Amino acid sequence: MDVKKDNSHTYIHIPFCKKICSYCDFCKVFYDKKLVFKYLESLEKEIKDIYKGEYQETIYIGGGTPSCLDIEELKKLFEIIEKLNHDRQTEITFECNFDSITKEKIDLLNEYGVNRLSFGLETTNKNVLRQINRELEIEEVKKIINYSKKIGISNINIDLMYGFENTDIEDLKKDIDFILELNPTHISTYSLEIHDNTKFAINKVCNIDDELDRLMYEYIHKKLIENKYDHYEISNFSKKGFESRHNLCYWKNECYYGFGVGASSYINDERITNSRSITSYINNNIKREKEKLNITDKIIYEMILGLRLKTGVNLNYFKEKYNKELYDIYDINKLIEDNKVIIAGNTIKVPFDKWYTINSILIDFLEVDYE
Ligand code: SF4
Repeated sequence: MDVKKDNSHTYIHIPFCKKICSYCDFCKVFYDKKLVFKYLESLEKEIKDIYKGEYQETIYIGGGTPSCLDIEELKKLFEIIEKLNHDRQTEITFECNFDSITKEKIDLLNEYGVNRLSFGLETTNKNVLRQINRELEIEEVKKIINYSKKIGISNINIDLMYGFENTDIEDLKKDIDFILELNPTHISTYSLEIHDNTKFAINKVCNIDDELDRLMYEYIHKKLIENKYDHYEISNFSKKGFESRHNLCYWKNECYYGFGVGASSYINDERITNSRSITSYINNNIKREKEKLNITDKIIYEMILGLRLKTGVNLNYFKEKYNKELYDIYDINKLIEDNKVIIAGNTIKVPFDKWYTINSILIDFLEVDYE
């Protein structure tokens, strides 16, 4: 198994949104036509300054809401992306919201080689949609998904959010049944988190209680497994062969470029985060926070990211990458005894019954002990 050294993955952040969701703490601004072209010019410059020409296995265009760009803006965006070295094998994901994607835009994405669409559905519950400030027309959702498949973009992710105040398992069942009807290749699930400075935090909206949250997590697992989805990462499910290749690069602790306001990169042993100020970004005055990683940091990232995967961390690959045995770094036998991890063949994994509380296990991997 070869250890990858290239930066063969790129994330591009498009921060514009037509509406702001009540729970959102992502890096975003209201869509403003005057800002978009300036933003794209800065994006082009940033890529030109930093990108070294490596072949890209995956390109992920996320946001914000990339689908809120109009046709001209999308053409400009893809002219920039064309300069990244990629081909038809490259997984190119584009994030869409149903209130801004159209058939015409999907045609354009298809022309530019987008082969994976990620839709933020979140929920179909009308009360919750009102609460979170989103709009959704069920019939439109079906039409758009069918159209995407019809023109050949059949690799489709749907985001599901659950755990909203005053919702129960019955509400979740309805959302999952609807998603299953759409038959996507991939489903990403998120339990609501209430972040400071969001409308939900300001309005003192509460989370559901922990027991219900756990029941929802277990229900999602059971129902999606029954429907032939593989629960391949703590929060992600896919049909066989449709795991997100882009997100796998994060969990496998590989290098990647991140372009755009607030985007993060992992290049040459540095984790770099662009500032979230759109004003600085469009003035080409990008402030970047840099964290230089030593071997200890790298090992910690390898473990806390890799253990999120059902496949866990491969012990041989680990040795090849760090020139160290995992057993010499952590007290693995104690962790096995405590039923926190298992060894299966050449891999170390967190058993499924511990996934819901995985953070309490990952703490054990934050302390590295070696000579
Ligand atoms: S569409 Fe996405 S990025 Fe925009 S406000 Fe909603 S959650 Fe945030």
